[in-house]
Amino acid sequence: VIRCRAAVAWAVGKPLSVEEVEVAPPKAGEVRIKIVATGICRTDDHLLEGCFPKVDFPVIPGHEGAGIVESVGDGVTSVKPGDKVIPLCLPQCGECSFCLNPESNYCLKSHISEPQNLLPDKTSRFTCKGKQIHHFLWVSTFAEYTVVPEYAVAKIDAAAPLDKVCLLGCGFPTGYGAAINTAKVKPGSTCAIFGIGGVGLSVVMGCKVAGAARIIAVDINKDKFAKARELGATDCVNPRDFKKPIQEVLTEMTGHGVDYSFEVIGHADTMTAALASCNMSTGVCVMVGVPAAGSVISINPMLLLSGRTWKGTLLGGWKMRDCIPKLVSSYLEKKFNSDLLITHTLPIAKVNEGFELLRAGK
Ligand code: NAD
Ligand code: ZN
Ligand code: ZN
Repeated sequence: VIRCRAAVAWAVGKPLSVEEVEVAPPKAGEVRIKIVATGICRTDDHLLEGCFPKVDFPVIPGHEGAGIVESVGDGVTSVKPGDKVIPLCLPQCGECSFCLNPESNYCLKSHISEPQNLLPDKTSRFTCKGKQIHHFLWVSTFAEYTVVPEYAVAKIDAAAPLDKVCLLGCGFPTGYGAAINTAKVKPGSTCAIFGIGGVGLSVVMGCKVAGAARIIAVDINKDKFAKARELGATDCVNPRDFKKPIQEVLTEMTGHGVDYSFEVIGHADTMTAALASCNMSTGVCVMVGVPAAGSVISINPMLLLSGRTWKGTLLGGWKMRDCIPKLVSSYLEKKFNSDLLITHTLPIAKVNEGFELLRAGK
């Protein structure tokens, strides 16, 4: 058993509490990882607000981390102590019908099919003050050590800087892949991205690398626009500067609407606005933002009848165990610069300050 620090969420709506926790050794088929760095994604905040489906508290959040294998359980062959790894918040078991389908990156072991609050044997490896603490998406990267199933671990290049490539555990691949894998943005096209946080900026980078001619960044926080321009946005629009709905503004700016729109916020109203912003025939709208549990959208079906496509993405469509190591290699070859997404670096003791910065749009 390892004793280490972790940021524990004891109850919905309460700040995280940095505690000493016990982390049990990995059982058969599991891997114990020393987490070196983790990002904060808005999905962690949805969890703290109680908006994330099927999660029990107390829980250790965090799902965008990188670390080093400390020990492995019986039967683990794909990684060994000392390997650099990224724990995967979307696993790839390699055996389910979706894993076997080359068109899909879903896995039936993911949280949406089976809650990942406990490890597959329905027990937790974390305790604190005599209480069992739950896992989050199995990865719980807000702990200095965590235990995950082998099929939720990607071994990465030994040269990778863990404090940078931790972003390849969620935010960057999600946005980048939403553009190149899910939407399949074509050269010369026009794109609109609703929400220019870490994930939205990664969509901008994906649209740019795919050769989009016009990339419109939409956000109510104008402080986001300088970075969006630096990464490839050609136009920046604040919906609060207009009286008319943003979908009308974008349609007027582009003639008939954009070719590709992306919702990267997680609100039902911006999802509908993003759908209505892409053109009525060949337009593709990709939903990236995570809606609050129980959200319902009502739309005019005519929006789809004329040919628009509405789709969603999990982690940008990448088959995670296969693709994350390749993305890390592309990072090392400087094919993209995800370092530009890093705004602040804090020690674990200041994790709540990190969430304050996120909520303040910093
Ligand atoms: P973030 O909070 O950093 O960014 C959200 C941005 O949206 C902010 O810049 C904010 O100012 C802007 N915004 C809020 N309301 C708006 C409005 N009405 N109109 C325009 N802009 C508005 O969040 P993030 O970490 O970039 O995550 C974005 C979303 O993506 C979250 O919902 C997160 O849960 C989700 N997500 C989904 C996946 C997936 O696999 N689909 C993976 C990671 C994150
Ligand atoms: Zn995330
Ligand atoms: Zn699977």
